[in-house]
Amino acid sequence: MTTDTYYQRPQLRLAPSPTAESRAFWTGGQRGELLINRCHACGRFFHPPGPTCWRCRSTDVAPEPVSGDATVAAFTVNRQIWIPGYEPPYVVAIVELDDEPDVRLITNIVGVAIDDVRVGMAVEVFFEDWTALSGEEDSRVWIPLFRPIQSGSA
Ligand SMILES: [Zn+2]
Repeated sequence: MTTDTYYQRPQLRLAPSPTAESRAFWTGGQRGELLINRCHACGRFFHPPGPTCWRCRSTDVAPEPVSGDATVAAFTVNRQIWIPGYEPPYVVAIVELDDEPDVRLITNIVGVAIDDVRVGMAVEVFFEDWTALSGEEDSRVWIPLFRPIQSGSA
């Protein structure tokens, strides 16, 4: 969707360098999927991705897509220029995934006026394709960002 009046893709983001454990999380967005590690023993999702479920210590875990719907749990407005090319103000938030509320992601809330962001706001994931400054092909990542759920989509 490109009808967003409040959000412009920044000139620069500091793209993460995926590890073997986190590669699915950072690249699932290529297919529009938010991939979160799920434990096949207890059935629960967990994050950050790792080789072992912290709940039951099973190693039978693998990334699975979640709905991408979430709720804003906390947020702050950054007004300081930390990254030249990434202009403030912008919202840094913790969101809780609807599929597993104790899976919390640190992200940006975009596509909404900063003054209208609220704790409890329903948001949905979308992805921005970035390449780390090294420019290597395997450094390509799809950063999950969140925006308000369009009304009527529930
Ligand atoms: Zn488990």
